[in-house]
Amino acid sequence: MTASTSDAPLVHAVNVSKSFHGNEVLKGIDMDVATGEVVVLLGPSGSGKTTFLRCINQLETIDGGRIWVDGDLMGYDDRGGTLHRLTDKRIAAQRRDIGMCFQRFNLFPHKTVLENVVEAPVQVKGMKRKAAEARAMELLQQVGLGDKPSAYPAQLSGGQQQRVAIARALAMDPKLMLFDEPTSALDPELVGEVLKVMRDLATRGMTMIVVTHEMGFAREVADRVVFMDAGVVVEEGPPSEVIGNPKHHRTRAFLSRMR
Ligand code: ADP
Repeated sequence: MTASTSDAPLVHAVNVSKSFHGNEVLKGIDMDVATGEVVVLLGPSGSGKTTFLRCINQLETIDGGRIWVDGDLMGYDDRGGTLHRLTDKRIAAQRRDIGMCFQRFNLFPHKTVLENVVEAPVQVKGMKRKAAEARAMELLQQVGLGDKPSAYPAQLSGGQQQRVAIARALAMDPKLMLFDEPTSALDPELVGEVLKVMRDLATRGMTMIVVTHEMGFAREVADRVVFMDAGVVVEEGPPSEVIGNPKHHRTRAFLSRMR
């Protein structure tokens, strides 16, 4: 599988398992995500959604299974069927192609919006500052903050800070964006502006895996919804099926609590 094989999935996860202190939180997850696809992960708290996202970009080390992103085996070198852990440097290089947005935005508080967005492309990718700034301004415009490059995070609303965090992730030109409940720390009136930016990103063809409880977003933007419970994928399919007409009783029970 290589990046040029267009029909190969961008994310190919096979039988992924992960335990914390003997507690198995991922019990053999299989998941393929096509280039340009938007997958929403739904499931009760504690079902393993965050852990799965963190496994994709190697913030967690998996105990079993394999994950490929764009043809790269994440975290390991496969030498004749024997896996060898990659060096931290190589894992960091793999992670560079994957943008991640969390519930908490973790912007650098003493840097301006523009400096926050420019930091990684300059420091990590060695991009020229002028070029990085020009790209950062484009991205700030894309997220509706073209007028805020000189502001400091504390001067912005939570919704604006999360949009800066999205621009910051995009500045690394990721192949894949992972969102972990990006709106759940926000006041309700600020949720829409962040979802709008994410919807726009989906329209532009970004491949996205999104953990969210925003059912409207899942219905309207997801190509596919994956419902997880207790570390397994219970059911998946288009939102019209999984949300509109769930087959499994656990999905129905979850959805009835959401409404
Ligand atoms: P979800 O995102 O669906 O709410 P998580 O992936 O956050 O679920 O958590 C799944 C389970 O794994 C939970 O029981 C949680 O307590 C446990 N867990 C997650 N991270 C850790 C960790 N670093 N150490 C120990 N247990 C963890």
